[in-house]
Amino acid sequence: MKILVNGIQSNLRFSSAHVIPGHESCGFIHGHSYFVDIEIEGERAGEFEFVVDFKDVKGLTKAICDELDHRMLIPVYNDLIDFKDFDKEKDSIFDLKKAKSVYFKIDGKGYALPSVDCVFLPLPYTSAEELSKFFAETLAKKLSETYDNLEYVAVCVNEGIGQGAMYRKDL
Ligand SMILES: [Zn+2]
Repeated sequence: MKILVNGIQSNLRFSSAHVIPGHESCGFIHGHSYFVDIEIEGERAGEFEFVVDFKDVKGLTKAICDELDHRMLIPVYNDLIDFKDFDKEKDSIFDLKKAKSVYFKIDGKGYALPSVDCVFLPLPYTSAEELSKFFAETLAKKLSETYDNLEYVAVCVNEGIGQGAMYRKDL
């Protein structure tokens, strides 16, 4: 059986700024009011014969949304982002979080931002595609700590109403 959670109606939302390095129109800092839909399939199980408790799904997803909300999303492993004093091959993302400010260049454009205003993600892009994969994998990992009856966790990250990307993580 499948359960569905509607992101708008369940308040699974976040508003963030991002940039898609190298993209003609999305290569400038801009923002989206994202919302996150979820679909989970699995066997019904346990005392109440739930697939999964909605409260668990919503709580875990809300926690990820809150982490990203009102921040600039930085895809640390993007090839076009050239960080100052940070080596993608050797240094830990924690070093970026710990620093007071972060400095980087994209195609010769220089950026200086307070680290607390940013979320550093281990991704090549902060596209809806990559964000949906990030949400699905994070959520699947957390849910599998308490559930062993789930077949897959699919997450659709919508960049506003009308366009989103869905990623399915099989368990
Ligand atoms: Zn965008």
